[in-house]
Amino acid sequence: MEIIPAEAEAIQRAAQALLDGQTLSSVAAGMPPRERAGRALRPWRSSELRSLLISPRLAALSAYDLESAYTAARASRGDTAAAIFSSVVAPAIWPAILDETLWRDLVRKLCDPKRRITPGSAPAHLLSGLVSCGVAGCGAPLRVSTAQRPGQPKRQYYRCFSAGHSRRPMDVLEDIVIGRTLDVLENGLTPPPLEPDSTDTPDTTSELARLRDKLSRLAEQYAADDITDHQFTLATAKTRARIAALEATAKPVTMSPELREIALAPSPREMWPTLPLESRRAILRALWTIELQPYPVVGSDAGRLAFNAAKKDPAWGIQMVPTWQ
Ligand SMILES: [Zn+2]
Repeated sequence: MEIIPAEAEAIQRAAQALLDGQTLSSVAAGMPPRERAGRALRPWRSSELRSLLISPRLAALSAYDLESAYTAARASRGDTAAAIFSSVVAPAIWPAILDETLWRDLVRKLCDPKRRITPGSAPAHLLSGLVSCGVAGCGAPLRVSTAQRPGQPKRQYYRCFSAGHSRRPMDVLEDIVIGRTLDVLENGLTPPPLEPDSTDTPDTTSELARLRDKLSRLAEQYAADDITDHQFTLATAKTRARIAALEATAKPVTMSPELREIALAPSPREMWPTLPLESRRAILRALWTIELQPYPVVGSDAGRLAFNAAKKDPAWGIQMVPTWQ
């Protein structure tokens, strides 16, 4: 972002106002409209003002790899202010708009997680992106949108992100998914060991090597006419089946730590509401592949019947395929 000298004073005032406790949106609203060559004047957005103010350039500091350090810290909910400070490499040659100490205070204030209204780009809804549209050839993730019928309150829906094929009220879909998940967990989901240990033994490995070697020897024998078609087909089929069985048992079995924790909890049902959103999402992601079918099309009497029947059943069209079996 280029800093226009005429804006310097406005920036200094904005910084002071924020440090005095004004909100980002009110300070952004009080900024003079942005002037950019060839474009219409427009007011500052809070996010634009924030990006400008956390830039080390304002304090006449140059930074290295600021963008990626900041993005990484933000994605991991880490200390974004520290990430910004650590990317500062040297004093720059341009004049400072903000005093460095004041700028650092400001960055700490703007990066304070308690202040953050939208926590990064992390999904704010339990099932955003975790359910896919069941229409053949679509498969787009469902995201939350708000809809309102005349005379009725606004309602939030999960809706096919691509074309709106399938949608379901947010509370209905979440209740069904949570209900089935807790049923499964309460019934005792046996978690596999966190680290694959006894499954991938040297025995298995050497046996696999021997069988693969046998396959290539069979091919050589067949090429040299030492064995018949029938012998070759039979022997390779048997060997391949044995390899497949061994590979299946040797496959490392892992489970997400969040899922493991709740699976081993004395009462998954009591634990669930205490978990942060990200953990609940991790559990669902680890447990299920979820698809939502669109309601039947009302184009005929039969269509209307099917539609009405589907509408009566809250669980209609919600397909949850377990991934742990
Ligand atoms: Zn779709």
